[in-house]
Amino acid sequence: MSLRIGCHLSTAGGFLAMAKTAEQINASTFQFFTRNPRGGAAKAWDPQDVSAMLEYFEKAGIAAPLAHAPYTLNSCASDDNIRRFARETMKDDLERLEMIPGAMYNFHPGSHVGQGAEEGVRLISDTLNSVLCKDLHTTVLLETMAGKGTEVGRNFEELRSILDRVELTEKMGVCLDTCHVWDGGYDIVEDLDGVLREFDSVIGIDRLKAIHINDSMNPRGSHKDRHEKIGQGKIGSEAFRRIVNHPLLKGLPFYLETPNELDGYQREIEMLREMSQD
Ligand code: FE
Ligand code: FE
Ligand code: ZN
Repeated sequence: MSLRIGCHLSTAGGFLAMAKTAEQINASTFQFFTRNPRGGAAKAWDPQDVSAMLEYFEKAGIAAPLAHAPYTLNSCASDDNIRRFARETMKDDLERLEMIPGAMYNFHPGSHVGQGAEEGVRLISDTLNSVLCKDLHTTVLLETMAGKGTEVGRNFEELRSILDRVELTEKMGVCLDTCHVWDGGYDIVEDLDGVLREFDSVIGIDRLKAIHINDSMNPRGSHKDRHEKIGQGKIGSEAFRRIVNHPLLKGLPFYLETPNELDGYQREIEMLREMSQD
């Protein structure tokens, strides 16, 4: 199977346009924001546009579109209104995503804003328990975080604690962001095997559903979350070569999300495809 790779795309032109753009830059998947990343009301999704996109997927060999929740949602805020907003937005996003079979929904667990990680974990899992339902078709992904400020999900244990408290746990998975785990202290450059072994023992490798493939501007453990283009940061090309070829990661979809022009994304996709050994 050849590398399933794509990048973050703008929804401005609609759904079909995203599929066409993906094909143009030789991507076989892509990520998009469900609404303005800063939050707020989403305009209605046009069912015809969505079905045109799904048809185009087949023609272009595209799969595993990844919907990203607005990064301003905070499902473990101390303020009830902020938490309610996160819950209602996620619920609405998940209802919409039923239109896109095979989509996954990624979100940042949140920031505990001084309440402590344990309380953060409790509030995040409460949110998930109120938005997940048995007949949901979308897999919901917790993103591994860099541990900036009071971010929850800064290590594998915190993600595991969230998963442990979610009732419909079969709906849940994890998206590993290479910049974030590196900034969080995991040595994916010198010891990718060890990091994945740790992921497996703490969370379970079968939970890993997607990879955000970003280089980092900062040294390991910096907890900064500043993305860099592939090969231009502290993670470096050789580590990415090992990442795209690792037997435990190979079959997963990879999403580039460091701000880049389309032709820049296209070059990175080409470079990673060349590195990939199948
Ligand atoms: Fe993210
Ligand atoms: Fe990410
Ligand atoms: Zn990030």
